[in-house]
Order: sequence, then C-alpha cells, then structure tokens
Amino acid sequence: MANPLIDMPGLPPFGRILPEHVETAVDTLLARNRARIKALAQGMVPPTWENFIEPLELIGDTLERAWSPVSHLNAVMNSEALRAAYNACLPKLSGYATELGQNRDLFEGYRAVATQEHLDATQRKLLDKALRDFHLSGVDLAPDRQARFKEIDQALSRLAAKFAENLLDATNAWNKWIEDEALLAGLPESARALARQIAEQRGETGWILTLDFPSYFPVMTYADDRDLRREVYEAYATRASELGPHAGQWDNGAIMEEILALRHEQAQLLGFANYAERSLATKMARSTGEVMRFLGDLAQHSVAKARRDLEEVREFARTEHGLGEIEPWDLAYYSEKRRERRYAITQEELRPYFPIGRVLDGLFAVLDRLFDIRIREVQGVEAWHPDVRFFEIRAGADAGTGDGELRGQFYLDPFARPNKRGGAWMDVCLNRLHTATCDQIPCAYLVCNFTPPLGDQPSLLTHAEVLTLFHECGHGLHHLLTKVDYPAVGGISGVPWDAVELPSQFLENWCWERESLDLISGHVETGAPIPDELYQRMRAAKNFQSAMQMARQLEFALFDFRIHLEYDPARGGRIYEILDEVRDQVAPLKPPAFNRFAHGFSHIFAGGYAAGYYSYKWAEVLSADAFSLFEERGVLDTATGRAFRQHILEQGGSREAMDLYVAFRGREPTIDALLRHGGITA
Ligand SMILES: [Zn+2]
Repeated sequence: MANPLIDMPGLPPFGRILPEHVETAVDTLLARNRARIKALAQGMVPPTWENFIEPLELIGDTLERAWSPVSHLNAVMNSEALRAAYNACLPKLSGYATELGQNRDLFEGYRAVATQEHLDATQRKLLDKALRDFHLSGVDLAPDRQARFKEIDQALSRLAAKFAENLLDATNAWNKWIEDEALLAGLPESARALARQIAEQRGETGWILTLDFPSYFPVMTYADDRDLRREVYEAYATRASELGPHAGQWDNGAIMEEILALRHEQAQLLGFANYAERSLATKMARSTGEVMRFLGDLAQHSVAKARRDLEEVREFARTEHGLGEIEPWDLAYYSEKRRERRYAITQEELRPYFPIGRVLDGLFAVLDRLFDIRIREVQGVEAWHPDVRFFEIRAGADAGTGDGELRGQFYLDPFARPNKRGGAWMDVCLNRLHTATCDQIPCAYLVCNFTPPLGDQPSLLTHAEVLTLFHECGHGLHHLLTKVDYPAVGGISGVPWDAVELPSQFLENWCWERESLDLISGHVETGAPIPDELYQRMRAAKNFQSAMQMARQLEFALFDFRIHLEYDPARGGRIYEILDEVRDQVAPLKPPAFNRFAHGFSHIFAGGYAAGYYSYKWAEVLSADAFSLFEERGVLDTATGRAFRQHILEQGGSREAMDLYVAFRGREPTIDALLRHGGITA
C-alpha cells in the first residue's frame, strides 16, 4: 500500500497515517532531497531564482509537509509506536539540516543568485537571510577555523545536555516525606492530593513533596509552615550547585563557565566581538547598546514601584500576620494572602461567562471587525480525533456570500485528553507556497488543553484559557494571512525571535476591553454580560505586583545579556559577580547568599534563550505599543486593524521587523504603553 506521507497532495490524510509509515517516508524523502539538492548545487550554470531557489523551496516544503503531521500526532495522539518512530527520525532530520547549513555548493549558489538583478524585495530578503544563516553555521570559514567551529558546536550541545541532565537529577534527588498532615496546613486540596499520589506511587504512606514545579509552587504560595517553606526554598534554590542538601553532586558551576567561554570563542570565530552580538545577528534589536538601553529604561521606570510593591506586602505581613522581616521564602505566601484579601477573585468565578461556543463566535467577530476576514467551520474534513474542528478563513469584498478568496485553513483541537501533550501552541501544517507551478494555501494547527464539556454542560473556559486561545490565534493569523510566496520568509518563519510574539500578545489585549469582552462572553445560563463590579476587580487583579514581576524579568534579562556581552577570557564568566550587580540594580528583595539561581537557569544554558531572554520584554513592549494605537483610535477601529493585517500579519519575515513595525505604527516603539497597561506609570 502507498505510504500516505510521501507525495501527499493537500491536507494530511490523518486516518491513514500509521507509525510504520514514518521512518520509511523520512528515509525516502531525505534520500530524494539529497539527490535533488546535489543535482541542483552542481548542475546550474548559472543558478537563477527560477532554476535554483524556487526548486530548493519546493524541496524543503515536501519534507516539512510530511513531517508536520507526524510531529503533530506525536504531540496530540501519542502512542509508544509513534513515539519510537518519531524519535528514530529526529537525528536523521537534524543531521540533514546541519548538512544543508554546511553545504558549500549551496552557499555558492545562493551567493551567485544574490548578485543578480531583477529580484524583488522579498526575494532579496530571502537571499540575505539564507546567506546570513550560512555564515552563522561557519560555512565560509577557513578550513582550520571551520574545524574548530564544528568542535565547539559539538562541545556546546554536549554541555547543554549535561547542564539539563544535572538539573533534572538534582531536582529528582530531593524529596520530603511528610507523616503529619498538619505540616501541610494552608495547601489547597489539589496540592495535597498530588503529594499523596506521589507517596502512593513510591509505596509510602503520608505525603511526599518534590521540587517539580506543581509540587514546589503551591508550597511556596500556600504552606502556612514557615520552616517548611524555608527548607523547600533552599533545596530548590541550590539545585545543581556546590551548596544545599545535595551540595556538589550535580554541580553545574564548571559547565556554565565552559559554555560561556566556548560561546565567546565561537562568536569571535565568526567575526563578532562577543556572543551577545552574535545573538542579535538574527534578532530585531539592532545593537547590544540598544538592548542595554531598552532594559535600563524599563528598570529605571519600574524599580521604585517594585520596591513599593514589596513594601506593601511587608507592611501587610507585619500588621496582619505579625511577621518581623519578610524573607524570599515568605514573598509568594504573603503576596497571595494580600491578593486574596484585596481582589477576592478566582478563575472559577469567571468561568460561567465563557462558554466555548460563545467565545469562538465572539473571537471570530472581533477578527472580522479588525482584519476583515470571515472564519467559517467546514464539516467533514478528516482529522485525528472527534473533538477536532476545522475552519477556513476568507477575505475580500464578497466574502459574505462565501465567494471571498480562501486565505487559510486551521484545525482547532480544544480539549485536554490522555496522550496529548499539555499546554497550548500553534504549529504549521502547510506553508503558503506560490510559484509558477504551485499554489499552496497555508494551514495551521491550534492546540489547547481546555476542560472538556461535562455532561450536557458546554465547556466553560477560565479567563486565562480565553487569553491562551487569543494568543495562539495571533500566532495562527501570522502564519495564515501571509502574502509572502516563499516559506523561508513567509508566515512566522524568518520573523526574528524577539518579534515573533508580537501578534500573539497583541491579540490578548481584546480579552481585557469591555467592548470586545462583551462580544466573547455571556453567562452560560442567562447570556448576561460580566457584571461591572466583577469586571473592575478582574482588571485590578491583573496589575497586582506588576512592577515586582517586571523587576524579576529584568533581573533575568540583564543578567543573561551582561554575562554574554561582558565575557572576558582573562577574567572568566564572573557569573555571580554580575548577578549580584544586577540584583543591586533591580531586585527589590535580595535573595540569600546561598541562592544559586544561575545553576538552574536552563533557558540560557540549556535552551535557546542565550543573550535573548530580553526578547520576552521586547515583544511585550511591541504588542502594548501596537495596541496603544487602538486605544487612540478605537478598540475595534477597522482602519487600524487593516493596517496591522497589511503591515505585520501579511508580511512575515519578508522585510526588516523594525521597518514593518514603523510602517504600521508610524514611529519606532516606546515603552510607555507597557508601563501604563501594567499600572506602573499613570
Ligand atoms: Zn506565543
């Protein structure tokens, strides 16, 4: 029988894809791609856009189209057989990607096309980006330097894996067995049930606390026993270090030093002054000075307010609970008490106002008003589970009659179920690809883990879940509304990391405005809107301790950026020296000397955020500043919505991100709107 993953036209035939197809399909497609690429790279004299770049885009898309449903099914319909097939393919795919990045003939081909005339701006951008990525993978280095570059690459991936492994082992090694339930006073039922379940799984009576987040977080937030909080805090804050209950057993100290040294050396091999500069080569921020000024500005405006946030909790803990001095292991606990007292709001209270059908209809109405698009459900499209729904997006003057131009399609998989990965995300199913021989409409997966319907009650969402839906939908529109013809710079591909969260965080704003909230909510029994008193409380609770949270994010971002920017081989990483300086600058409450936060900062030592943690704040500033134009002109202002669609959503990575932003906003972004929305400035 034919393998449905090979040469499949259109949407994936989910009902026919079986685990045994996966490896064969990947092997076949990789072999076929390698042969085609070899022929292209060596045969085209001279290479042109039409005979070289376009075929390469098509070749890349064939593989993506086959792999997308596999990695998607692995996430949403996991089984042992599928997982094994998926894992078997990962090294093959990453090996192939590395091979392409190092392919000198391909590089020369791109370089030759880039010198030719008659290319449009999108084509130029695609070539620039490709040449940049070739350079960053070391393909144009002299042979001895290239050898060293590859050696460093391998060492870095080994060290990152070791860092993560140490952290995991240290996290798993500690637990606390509790015999007397009185020690758990204050913990909500869900946290106790988890602790009991862990004990049962280990054949123990009583309760077991661990350092995994679902166990750690409720202890810090709710446990009345201060000594217990102190003990758990210390175990958590010293993981994988030379201190704490497992001192020295999984110490990441030397690994961090080595990682910083190698990143610095590798950046210099490529001609950058340091790794922070290397990181910015692929980002929207234009210089290390710009990032440092950006973080410094935010700090300057929020640190005083963060100190007042802390003072407020300190005062509350003193007067209401007789606490002498607030320590780091008290902060979350008394903050939560203060929050409950002041706003008395829970996610459950809002749930009845957000039946999923009402939320979706409202969301689509908001999107139509803003972006002039019609979203309609299509029945009978083959999917992977009965809960999944399928929608199409049409745009254009006569879309109301159903004849508008088909711009994109998406699957929505809304509910949690066994064998489905947690969290929420948007992923690409099909790219937009438009050439003389091919016209592919983009398609996306929107995946959430909402509470499924109970009995004959429809699924009721929390406000946090509504925010999630809007967020993922923002990513989805960025992929689906693209007008860029080539996948390499269309949709979200080619959008710099620090700008990719712009559409998603931007769309969340409509979950907070009365005008749009009324469209997406209505009481499940009566259809009544959210009462004004509840609405006011929900707005106020949103900004509780926002300055303190900002200060915390700035601490991480400044620390991350500075250790990469200021690295000096003669002086080493100075990791805790720099962290201390940053804390003096921005942290309202200084952690104790034993705190080894950096030893567990896997975002930057084992993940992709090195010299890039600032991106979280950068994207928030963009989305708040973009939304402020709607505050000026009307929350549902059509002209402003159309402009966002035209300049941001349709352009993908086909232009410089800052140029696109300025085209929409009329100027470069400022931090004012973010500070104002967070209640940090008036
Ligand atoms: Zn996101």
